[in-house]
Amino acid sequence: MILKKNIITRKTFDEVMLPIYHPASFIPVKGLGSRIWDQEGRDYIDFASGIAVTALGHCHPDLIKIITKQSCMIWHTSNLFTNEPALRLAKKLVDTTFAERVFFANSGAEANEAAFKLSRYYSIKRFSNKKTKIIAFKQSFHGRTLFTVSVGGQKKYSNNFGPKVPDILHVNFNDLNAVQSVVDKNTCAIVVELIQGEGGVRPANFQFIKGLRDICNKYNALLIFDEVQSGMGRTGKLFAYEHYKIIPDILTTAKALGGGFPISAMLTTNKISELVEIGIHGTTYGGNPLACAIAEKVFDIVNNKNFLQKVIDKGHFFFKILYKINKKLKIFQEIRGKGLLIGAVLKPKYIIKIHDILKEVSKGVVVLSAGNKVIRFAPSLLITKEEIEEGLERFFQLTKEFISR
Ligand SMILES: *Cc1c(COP(=O)(O)O)cnc(C)c1O
Repeated sequence: MILKKNIITRKTFDEVMLPIYHPASFIPVKGLGSRIWDQEGRDYIDFASGIAVTALGHCHPDLIKIITKQSCMIWHTSNLFTNEPALRLAKKLVDTTFAERVFFANSGAEANEAAFKLSRYYSIKRFSNKKTKIIAFKQSFHGRTLFTVSVGGQKKYSNNFGPKVPDILHVNFNDLNAVQSVVDKNTCAIVVELIQGEGGVRPANFQFIKGLRDICNKYNALLIFDEVQSGMGRTGKLFAYEHYKIIPDILTTAKALGGGFPISAMLTTNKISELVEIGIHGTTYGGNPLACAIAEKVFDIVNNKNFLQKVIDKGHFFFKILYKINKKLKIFQEIRGKGLLIGAVLKPKYIIKIHDILKEVSKGVVVLSAGNKVIRFAPSLLITKEEIEEGLERFFQLTKEFISR
């Protein structure tokens, strides 16, 4: 068969891809810092970072250098061997967090899958084979494997796939009484996002997280923080748990960890890892030298007081402009978040138009939704104030045009 003209357009997606996404009408082909360009050469300010992933922007020169260097050395070895980049990265994670042990995987879901399996494994080995109950929260998001959609608190992601993983309960977020009413000696873990990302950029309040820690201590349950989205500098701390000064038993992180290269990590303590035996869990790609070398460079850049302070400053700057915009447009009922993870909650009359608004602003700026009524901003942590101003000016003009129609 003679191949037709090799022209790739957005229409090609509809012809050959599994139709589980509805991507934008343009195809980005190039990125630099906080700007991306499409096939026609149009530019967009990127306030999404590929869903909080490209935390150092596009094509960061240090990341280009390290990926080039490591790609000339060794890419992949499997876990029949260990490798230097993985060990260096693990050491750094251990040195800077509560953790004493690290497991690497490739995606947020896989890190969470490992965390959930580990918490059940630990509780069964250490206490009883009835201790398998997991408490999670409504509107939470933990990934798309069957275990992680079962734990996630959004039915739209878990329905129609047959039996879910059993013994998982969902209660209201930020509601300690609700947790108290379902926890018992058979609870093995409580899983929480410190800021619900996908579920609407909703921060957990301090008393809630403190209360979860106390409950876990009382019932010998493990506290799992899902920092897949909030970790690696996104909120102005290396990990968001530092804001709360509450220590989990297991923490997962992914998105920003590789700055755009797939890698995730599950962090935990010796108390838990002591019971682990060789072979109980694993992954082929996880912790490969290429991914770990890149993540180590991202880590070195992000784990810097000055860098993290700037994230907080730029977050404030972003909030300030959003408030100004809202004074003029009056479309948001609340603006919330931490650092550079920001959610602007639409007023009821605009909620039904959220997808039209997003479509309209996508002519000049890339933003995300979170849940069905929140516009989510997760720009590069290296975005400049000028780029924030330019992007939000575009957002303002395009939104203004849309709502005045
Ligand atoms: C994105 C996300 C996940 C899933 O990560 P994947 O890499 O898509 O598997 C899990 N938890 C949270 C909080 C997330 O934001």
